[in-house]
Amino acid sequence: MELNLSNFSGQTAAENQKHNRVLILGSGPAGLSAALYAARADLEPLVLTGMELGGQVSLTFAVDNYPGFPEGISGADLVERFQKQAERFGAIIEFDTATQVDLSKRPFKVQTYGATYLADAMIIASGANARHLDIPGEKELTGRGVSYCATCDAYFFKEKNVIVVGGGDSALEESLFLARFVQSVSIVHRRDELRAGAILQSEAKKNPKIKFFLNTVLTEITGTEAVTGVRMKNVITGEESQLPVDGVFVFVGHTPNTQLFEGQLELDPAGYIMSDTLMRTSVPGVFAAGEAADPHYRQVITSAGMGAAAAMQANHFLENAAREENEEVSYA
Ligand code: NAP
Repeated sequence: MELNLSNFSGQTAAENQKHNRVLILGSGPAGLSAALYAARADLEPLVLTGMELGGQVSLTFAVDNYPGFPEGISGADLVERFQKQAERFGAIIEFDTATQVDLSKRPFKVQTYGATYLADAMIIASGANARHLDIPGEKELTGRGVSYCATCDAYFFKEKNVIVVGGGDSALEESLFLARFVQSVSIVHRRDELRAGAILQSEAKKNPKIKFFLNTVLTEITGTEAVTGVRMKNVITGEESQLPVDGVFVFVGHTPNTQLFEGQLELDPAGYIMSDTLMRTSVPGVFAAGEAADPHYRQVITSAGMGAAAAMQANHFLENAAREENEEVSYA
């Protein structure tokens, strides 16, 4: 049953406004899985990709924990498969980024650089961005030796010496990747215990190119035109030291990409979208999936599952809305 959209808002869409039944913000595993499920429910979803088609996983060299690929698959290839599968059922992928949203009434309104979109239901799968260290030199030398993506930049550091900051799965996985190219990787972690899983820890400890500086933080990244070194501090002894390096790779977690929704959706103190087990946010008709709403798992498979669930819930929501509208019409 098609919804009578003019009854939702009391106005028809203007010429430059594109009206969609389901609008999906974000094209990572959550967004593209939501697109697949919404397309298969005949909802003709429109996906606004955001800055990077595929989101963070598209920058991942190898995904070894997504079932169905026993030999592993590159993040970029996986994203391409997600995209093709969603498009096969009618999802439309638009290379555009939301700059403003109005979730105060339906149809919801999304402004991008080039257009205004209206949507009867929305799925927010806007993901998360790499967290920064916020130390002197980091911002100035980003792109000149400071990087947040080993897959993108390892090639530029062949036979060089680099530092990786962080003790989680990303830090160790990316260190192992970097070790294929560089002369040495020094992992700097603020505690004496790594957060990463056992397998990654044992692989990294076995790798002769990787060494560890535990209980240590970076206090400054030095260099003018390019990174030439770092200043570090042992957090137990207070001892300060310098290390000459050519690159600094930062993997210290992520911040959810939810600033656009502040004041419109309920967010937790860390900025993650609050949603229930049915992917519903604080605004009826707006659903959330993937890392923007998930501080716990942040895996391709869990994000994809959340995306599928959000699309099924968006479908229920639209069906119920159409039913209520029909009932209103028949009593009139
Ligand atoms: P994470 O697990 O949150 O780890 C972030 C690391 O950075 C932690 O070791 C943390 O230290 C450190 N850190 C945070 N803020 C810092 C700061 N300001 N200065 C210095 N160090 C700081 O993030 P992640 O490694 O990106 O992983 C995110 C999620 O993706 C996790 O759930 C992870 O399991 C998953 N993941 C899985 C795989 C895989 O399965 N192969 C690969 C990549 C990521 P503390 O330990 O002291 O908190």
